[in-house]
Amino acid sequence: MRLEGKVALISGGARGMGAVEAKLFAEEGAKVVIGDVLEAEGKETEAEVNESGGECIFIRLDVTASSDWQAAVDLAVQRFGGLHVLVNNAGISNRATLEDTSDEAWDRMLDINAKGVFLGTRHAIPAMRDSGGGSIINISSIYGLIGSRTSAAYHASKGAVRLLTKATAIQHASENIRCNSVHPGFIQTPMTQASFSDEEHRERLIANTPIGRLGVPEDIAKGVLYLASDESSYVTGTELVIDGGFTAQ
Ligand code: NAD
Repeated sequence: MRLEGKVALISGGARGMGAVEAKLFAEEGAKVVIGDVLEAEGKETEAEVNESGGECIFIRLDVTASSDWQAAVDLAVQRFGGLHVLVNNAGISNRATLEDTSDEAWDRMLDINAKGVFLGTRHAIPAMRDSGGGSIINISSIYGLIGSRTSAAYHASKGAVRLLTKATAIQHASENIRCNSVHPGFIQTPMTQASFSDEEHRERLIANTPIGRLGVPEDIAKGVLYLASDESSYVTGTELVIDGGFTAQ
């Protein structure tokens, strides 16, 4: 029960890593609000958590909408009595090169992946302050640390998340609000299903990963759990890279 007594809000919690984090957090004693634009999947995840003895509520949340964030934070406080953990996990990706990225695609990527994290953080902080402190975990990527031949806007958005994390950590450390970023490598989720099903691409990624396999959502969820729990009470402004050794090369 590493999260006993805590209330957590996870954006993009309907599927993929966010859904696995919701399940793990509930098993560890947290009450969980999941927010997502995918309503059917979100309700399914909510039901799965509740059927296995956890406490979870789904709310429709578009991370680019300030009013949706306020409603999600209010729900956590009203139904579960406070807010201690925010996982800014919602995100989109594409593999467009710089020259192939349209103005619209750039704006959409930065709106969801970077502004979404800013809005979630700004709305969560007052509720965390009232709850005596908290932990914010921002899901960046190894693509927020290094460049590649594709995904130009994605790199920019995840790099923004990396440094917004450090600014948040410094500005709120004195209030017992911690903020850290997580940098997953190549993880099998609905987001990567299409690109990883290209056999040649998949084999190349595995060959370039020292541990010799692709990641699964549980690999990330366990790191997020550590940062959410009081076990990491002296950890803020840092980067947790979970990538099978890819960026160590
Ligand atoms: P996923 O597509 O399975 O899950 C992302 C979730 O975010 C979805 O449920 C989606 O509906 C939600 N979402 C998208 N736009 C939203 C919006 N505007 N408002 C609210 N929710 C929205 O992908 P995943 O792999 O589980 O990704 C989770 C996070 O991890 C993302 O931030 C992603 O960039 C990051 N990441 C993934 C990988 C990987 O290899 N899968 C690697 C590094 C980082």
